[in-house]
Amino acid sequence: MHEQAFRDEDVAESDLVTRRGTFRAVAFRADGHEHMALVHGKTRMREHVLVRVHSECMTGDIFGAMRCECGDQLDAALDNIVREGNGVLVYLRGHEGRGIGLVEKVRTHVLQDERGLDTLDSATALGLPVDVRDYTAAARVLRHLRVRSVRLMSNNPDKIKALEHHGIRVTARVPLLAPPNPHNIGYLAAKRDRLGHDLPQLDGAAEAGAPGRLSS
Ligand SMILES: [Zn+2]
Repeated sequence: MHEQAFRDEDVAESDLVTRRGTFRAVAFRADGHEHMALVHGKTRMREHVLVRVHSECMTGDIFGAMRCECGDQLDAALDNIVREGNGVLVYLRGHEGRGIGLVEKVRTHVLQDERGLDTLDSATALGLPVDVRDYTAAARVLRHLRVRSVRLMSNNPDKIKALEHHGIRVTARVPLLAPPNPHNIGYLAAKRDRLGHDLPQLDGAAEAGAPGRLSS
């Protein structure tokens, strides 16, 4: 897998001062989407760089929705990067609802709320795939940034396989364990039980959440 380098016209970067600290904000055009990498500290030509490859979730990331843990993971990843002093967050667009898009994602929410379906069954009930996210752009971005190998902040072993498939060396997985709440416990349990995510923070907590209406 040797995806092409970005053309100059498809990349722009500047400093970005945030509440957490200063990042280099690098914007990319790829596959009809615009993605962004936030780079903190020294990561170029480094090994074992702390990296989060984050799939966009407007409801969770921007609005703080509690039916998923995306916003918590985004916050924790940026906090970890700043605490460590070095790292990269790749924010991937076009990944809403594991790739089905925002409108269809909201349709799955209706089925989850009204019929108690989980995050997988609500997609398949609409004739939609469970996960069609593509990580080609993330691999191209990490290569553009000259990151030599990554410690990936993720609970999803499949994401590591996907990045490795695209030629990224992953030397460790760093868990990002958001504490469950009554609105996302069903969603997290489905990710653990049906998508193979490693979520040990649910042990003991999962049974406390009623299935059905609380599932997301
Ligand atoms: Zn989300």
